[in-house]
Amino acid sequence: MPLDAKRTTTTEHSNFVWCHGSTISSYAIRPILSITDLIHDNDKWAVRTLHCPENGSSTVAQAIIRGNAIAVCDGSYKDHFGTAAFVLQNGNSQTSRIIGAHVTPGHPDDINPYRSELGGILAIVIVTEAIATFHDIPDGTIEIGCDCQSGLIAVFDHTYDTLKQPHHDLIHEIRRKLADSRLTWKFRQVDGHQDKHILYHLLDMWGQLNVEMDSLAKVYWNDTKPLIQPFYPPSSYGWSLWVGTRKLASWDRQSLYNHAQSTPILEHWSKLRNIPHHLIRSIDWEACEHAIKLLGLTRSLWIPKWLAGFAPVGKVQQRNQFQDHAKCPSCSGFETTAHVLLCPAPQAQRQWDSSLSSLDQWFAKALTLPDLQNAIITRLRSWRNQDAGPPAPSYNWPGVNDIVLDQDAVGWRAFLEGGVLHAWAAKQQEYYNWIKRRNTGKRWITILIKKLWEISWNMWEQRNGEVNNPESPASLREHARLDALITTNYEDVSTLTIKDRRWFRRLKEVIFTESLEYKHQWLESVRLARIRYARRRRTSTQAQRTLMRQSFCCRSTREPQPIIHPRNL
Ligand SMILES: [Zn+2]
Repeated sequence: MPLDAKRTTTTEHSNFVWCHGSTISSYAIRPILSITDLIHDNDKWAVRTLHCPENGSSTVAQAIIRGNAIAVCDGSYKDHFGTAAFVLQNGNSQTSRIIGAHVTPGHPDDINPYRSELGGILAIVIVTEAIATFHDIPDGTIEIGCDCQSGLIAVFDHTYDTLKQPHHDLIHEIRRKLADSRLTWKFRQVDGHQDKHILYHLLDMWGQLNVEMDSLAKVYWNDTKPLIQPFYPPSSYGWSLWVGTRKLASWDRQSLYNHAQSTPILEHWSKLRNIPHHLIRSIDWEACEHAIKLLGLTRSLWIPKWLAGFAPVGKVQQRNQFQDHAKCPSCSGFETTAHVLLCPAPQAQRQWDSSLSSLDQWFAKALTLPDLQNAIITRLRSWRNQDAGPPAPSYNWPGVNDIVLDQDAVGWRAFLEGGVLHAWAAKQQEYYNWIKRRNTGKRWITILIKKLWEISWNMWEQRNGEVNNPESPASLREHARLDALITTNYEDVSTLTIKDRRWFRRLKEVIFTESLEYKHQWLESVRLARIRYARRRRTSTQAQRTLMRQSFCCRSTREPQPIIHPRNL
């Protein structure tokens, strides 16, 4: 790329490219004086100490080209702290070889011998790639020797890596770098600590280098342990997952769940749903965790979106400018997620009644304590009716009234969303014990939460059906909006080629009888035809003048614009 190249934004059109101006890049090009200048800041930790003679070692570079290059690494681990040392050289020759060492990145709980070995392999890949770039090596070969068989398998043998595998962060980084590499990578497993049984000078080259790297890593461990705090290098590929200041080394569902129960998140929900502080920890979050696993993939991805208010209801669609109103498709009320559950339209009421009766049937099937069953059904009904102050509970089974009152305080919207108190499960367990059944309250509450989420899901599905129902107020409104745009387009056909005027052959009243989809397509075709016409006319100055005159004299040359209602301004 030329050094004076500038950044620009371009848009591609059918037969030309539009260049939207350019600006001088805000970053300076750094001079490349040594191979460390070619190592990305994210990777600098891997070469914390690097001895690299001949400014990038042309000896090793030539060895890579000739296919003689070898590299060996070894890790050292003790007391939740790890280091690795590595060497790159030209076959058995130690002339101008490259040696380095580093501290294993990550949380002390994650660090183990395996991780330290992976760090060593990654360092070799980073240094080799920098040498290849520095010396502009188009292709070559290097062989890695390592005593960690599982590390070599995870890096070189597996067809793919998975987020759940331990130390996925390092493995993924190595694999992506290897996938991008122009070099051929070979590997061999070297037996570690062979000097325990065989004299050092009798070992082969790989055995000797392994012993050498092992002791170098140990020395480095002693030097750095008191000085280096845990650190987390950013990932160069994909995304990384952090819990507070700690970067996770792999996908860890448990620590994410623990994090999701952390104080700020509980505070947030407590405030958002008005849940009293003393009760928020009495909600059975664990049952929610189990319940979400029972939902299919689609619904389990939808639940968090729904609960956080990001489902595409009217309010969200308007905010994101996907539509110019926030009306409920069934009743034209202001549509929030809560509205979907509370919508007074008859079809929404029918859906709610049928959901509640299937919940009632499940309660019976699951041998639910009748007082619990009645309490839940009654309270949910009065929540949907938005009854002010439902009657005080008067159930006979000891303790049920207290649970209902506590749940009243937490809220029944929260209940529908899965904010169900532990006490429900405990009470149901008590009942199972009393009727001498081996069912568990834990299982009961898990299924209950799943059923509650299904109520929301069904209400949501019912609402989506309304959007496509040609008789619904939403469809009628959309027809009216499109008809107005079509009328505007009919006012002037002079800014269209003769050929494109075919769109106007039929009376607009006939177009009005078409489907929404047809009207959308019609408007889009006419819009594109007008753009085509305007572009062609721009090529001639005379034509442009005429167009300008037309635009100023006759207001109807404008392109169709969405109608903006004054209340939305
Ligand atoms: Zn509604």
